Amino acid sequence: MFNLNTFDQCSGGNPAQCEASVRQLPASLDGGLRLILLGAPGVGKGTQADLLRRAIGITQFSTGDFFRAAIADPLAPHSAATMAAIRRISEGCLVPDDMVIEIVRGEMHRLRNPAGVLLDGFPRTVPQAHALEEMLSEEQLQIDGVLNYVLPTEKVVERLAHRRVCRVCKRSYHLVELPPQEEGHCDHCHGELFQREDDRPEAVRVRLDLYARNTEPLIGWYHKRNQLISIDCSGTPQETHLLTLQALHL
Ligand SMILES: [Zn+2]
Repeated sequence: MFNLNTFDQCSGGNPAQCEASVRQLPASLDGGLRLILLGAPGVGKGTQADLLRRAIGITQFSTGDFFRAAIADPLAPHSAATMAAIRRISEGCLVPDDMVIEIVRGEMHRLRNPAGVLLDGFPRTVPQAHALEEMLSEEQLQIDGVLNYVLPTEKVVERLAHRRVCRVCKRSYHLVELPPQEEGHCDHCHGELFQREDDRPEAVRVRLDLYARNTEPLIGWYHKRNQLISIDCSGTPQETHLLTLQALHL
């Protein structure tokens, strides 16, 4: 099931318009899929990651979750790089590439997992992508695909206007497409649902613009390597999930 090694390649941000072509990729030796998740805030990347984990049993390594857990448990034995990164984050600074790379290198067991891994939040820059490629090739592993979830700006704005987040467990809901069973409360933990300040349309446009500018070089880098798999998110989460499975030939 994990040993599938051909992908439809899309050439731009609009997969509906691109000609599908198939390229053979040599699968990693252990057959596990190693995928990178990309997608602007509000396209539903987190939901897709959850669906994919449940559908194919792949593991997930989110650097955002990793840092949040490290910050929440400062007494745990953290590496020097992790401690340095926590300090940078608490000062409101970006964590530099070399620090992020060192942290991921310390977590190689997650990348080696034969169940495969979905990388979320890493790589964020071309130097990080380059380092990742090196790290994996040392282990005779590789990136099997870069899932790039895309949605036009106005649709993201509309979608985020309907987003509500649980104060307790941070799960998100959509008032129309994924409403909670009980209005105003989380299905999972019954916490209060609220609208984030940065989900307001003006703030969303600024975030999307920033995301596009920051991610453009990375998208270009993976596109050149024929590893970019752009997936249109304008359907329901389930429809997008099916497109993902099709694109991965699963
Ligand atoms: Zn909750």
